[in-house]
Amino acid sequence: MQHFPTDYTSILQRIDAVDPVRYGKTRNYINGAVSYLSPYISRGVISTRQVYEAFVAKGYSLYQMEKWVSELAWRDYFQQVWKHQGKGIFTDLKQPQPDVQFHHLPAALANANTGIDAIDEGLQQLQETGYMHNHLRMYTASIICNIGRCHWSQPAEWLYYHLLDGDLASNHCSWQWVAGSFSSKKYLCNQENINKYTGSSQRHSYLDTSYDLLPDMHVPATLQTAANIMLQTVLPAMAPVQIDASLPTLLYNSYNLDPQRRSQQPANRILLLEPSHFAQYPVSEKVLQFILDLSKNIPGIQVFTGELHDLYQIHNLSATAHSFYSKEHPAFTHYPGQKDARDWLAPQVQGYFPSFFNYWKKVSRHL
Ligand SMILES: Cc1cc2nc3c(=O)[nH]c(=O)nc-3n(C[C@H](O)[C@H](O)[C@H](O)COP(=O)(O)OP(=O)(O)OC[C@H]3O[C@@H](n4cnc5c(N)ncnc54)[C@H](O)[C@@H]3O)c2cc1C
Repeated sequence: MQHFPTDYTSILQRIDAVDPVRYGKTRNYINGAVSYLSPYISRGVISTRQVYEAFVAKGYSLYQMEKWVSELAWRDYFQQVWKHQGKGIFTDLKQPQPDVQFHHLPAALANANTGIDAIDEGLQQLQETGYMHNHLRMYTASIICNIGRCHWSQPAEWLYYHLLDGDLASNHCSWQWVAGSFSSKKYLCNQENINKYTGSSQRHSYLDTSYDLLPDMHVPATLQTAANIMLQTVLPAMAPVQIDASLPTLLYNSYNLDPQRRSQQPANRILLLEPSHFAQYPVSEKVLQFILDLSKNIPGIQVFTGELHDLYQIHNLSATAHSFYSKEHPAFTHYPGQKDARDWLAPQVQGYFPSFFNYWKKVSRHL
């Protein structure tokens, strides 16, 4: 069962343990040599650039590690989509999702009861560990959206809630990619394919059929019922923090927990947990604990539960006169002060690209 340590030394060791060549050959199998780095990349503890440079330093050429680096680029790609489409990522991006019958959270998803054994096992493990392999995420989204004919939005919120690596851009855009609202066609999978990559041997399920029959299949009864679940985040109680008004204040959040950022600068360091953010995008208790544990790598960090204006008010800070520093991020455009750039794989390549492959073509020229 996957375990995700939160101390910085173990995280750096995890980067070092990746074998990019074996990764390229086995990543689609659920027991393949995947990196388990996404919870740290999506929480901004480490960056795609930092990971890439670690492998350049080991002597790998882009040719040798192309699959590995192109997967890292998917992260930057979806972040660029978010940066440039803003709230557009929360609605169908390119075209309406085809053939939708339901706009709900299917009980089969929430109860790990889709009837496909490998998926149900993956969903149970997700609730225990906060992680799910990429191929299982694709299969799950395909079963829910393309066989269950459910709109992607509520299932995506549910998955985001449980993932340690929850990233609204990677998550929502990937659901849309599978469901056909951010791709040219829906992604479909049958039982044979699932058995091959998960090592299962299930037969006679509703997916045990050929690809040409999948698009017109009636929605199986097990996928039709809605769950009755309220997703909410339980934040720590608000407590005052110590602020030295003569020093600048560095703001951190659930997507920016980089212990190296401005590490030599004397500053107040505040992990800001804004209730308004978590009310809109709830996360589970496990995810919140993971975020709090990761923040402990930042020397002197203090946790403030409250809105930015509460922080100003309680500590007599002026949004204009006090120096604030944060990292640029589409979820936190309302922060005051200076926004440091993120460490993209190719900082020169900015903008909305309707397809990953156009983005990757440009990025790879700069690597
Ligand atoms: C329906 C669905 C929902 C998803 N939701 C999220 C999410 O909320 N947060 C998230 O980080 N990823 C999400 N992904 C992408 C992907 O599944 C995870 O990034 C990956 O499984 C993480 O495990 P890993 O680090 O072991 O991956 P590896 O295969 O080792 O990949 C290495 C790194 O490349 C990046 N990466 C790989 N595949 C993708 C991808 N498809 N999209 C974006 N980045 C990628 C990640 O940063 C990852 O850490 C989702 C995919 C699907 C299909």
